Amino acid sequence: MTLTPPPANIRKPVYLDYAATTPVAPQVAAKMAECLTLEGNFANPASRSHMLGWQAEEAVEHAREQVAVLIGADTREIVWTSGATEANNLALKGAAENYRILHKAGGHIVVSAIEHKAVLDPASWLEAQGFAVTRVQPNHEGIITAENLQAALRDDTFLVSIMQVNNELGCINDIKSLAAICKSRGILFHCDAAQSAGKIAIDVKDLGVDLLSLSAHKFYGPKGIGALYVRRAADVKIAAQIHGGGHERNMRSGTLATHQCVGMGESAELAQNNLVGDAQRITELRDLLWHGIADLPNLKRNSTSSQCVSGILNVAFVQDESHGCDGEMLLLSLRDLAVSSGSACNSASMSPSYVLKAIGLNDTQAQASLRFSVGRYTTREEIEFAIEHIRSVVMKLMKS
Ligand SMILES: *Cc1c(COP(=O)(O)O)cnc(C)c1O
Repeated sequence: MTLTPPPANIRKPVYLDYAATTPVAPQVAAKMAECLTLEGNFANPASRSHMLGWQAEEAVEHAREQVAVLIGADTREIVWTSGATEANNLALKGAAENYRILHKAGGHIVVSAIEHKAVLDPASWLEAQGFAVTRVQPNHEGIITAENLQAALRDDTFLVSIMQVNNELGCINDIKSLAAICKSRGILFHCDAAQSAGKIAIDVKDLGVDLLSLSAHKFYGPKGIGALYVRRAADVKIAAQIHGGGHERNMRSGTLATHQCVGMGESAELAQNNLVGDAQRITELRDLLWHGIADLPNLKRNSTSSQCVSGILNVAFVQDESHGCDGEMLLLSLRDLAVSSGSACNSASMSPSYVLKAIGLNDTQAQASLRFSVGRYTTREEIEFAIEHIRSVVMKLMKS
């Protein structure tokens, strides 16, 4: 079967959606390719009876070490998962199930109102199973304050889940302070670090978290692999959600995908080595983009927090109903850019982003907002092109 190639006149859009996913780094892809075919490291890492199995296990354990180093964990605290969605599910459902076994009752869970759906949906599912759930509102910058968290806690709260970096806004929560509040009350603290890992320095011991979720494809690793950090302590217990063989210290069964683990490990080490340089360059490009469009009429930057991850710029292209662009028209007109309207997860439906609404935007403003996310392979030329493209599209839409 031959596939019809796309017509030559279709130019690839400039990719400014690194917060949705990143391309795999070439050196990472090369390492992964070595773990697939007969000549390569293809054996089952759980095969204990031959050398090929041991070699695969060695590769997986080296990758586990690379991931552990990225977040300051012990290798025994890393549980491989299929991504951050599974890691979040394991953290929330695993902790909840364990609580119910111990207390013969459903307790109280606190999450932020602007978590990724991969936390909000498991929380709602647990609510339907008899647990109580409180969703803490952020401030106008998207930050979860200590006061708001404290006000949500109850005597029967056993789990709090707050993300480190919000995927739509890029704002950074003070996880260390929030986790300390929970620790003093004996409450487990989970953090979704899918948008922060590999972008800002993370030390789980310093942050004081009990559980932390990672996703490789957000830091130039492959899709379909992630990890859950589970602090080694008697009071941090989670019940497995996938059974079958007792892999990953009984917390997550299933044959490990050597190439995926190796890919995540390599991308973690690469991110660690490039942490400062990447952040500096990406911040410069992000600021160049903002300064190139900031003077356009009726523009408003969403989230003005000074604590913001390097790559994300979220902008509303409307002030009120009568001044600004139609969000759908804007996205349709920006054909030469790959960007997100609010969040990738919301783009299928044109319902306004719950994150933007939570920081005070109305439906019109939220629907006329775009998230630009810059990454490791973004060039100055691409940003300059994006600025020109946005300027001409917005000016055209304003006139009509
Ligand atoms: C991407 C993302 C996820 C989901 O990760 P997957 O590995 O794609 O399942 C969860 N949380 C946040 C904050 C994310 O950005």
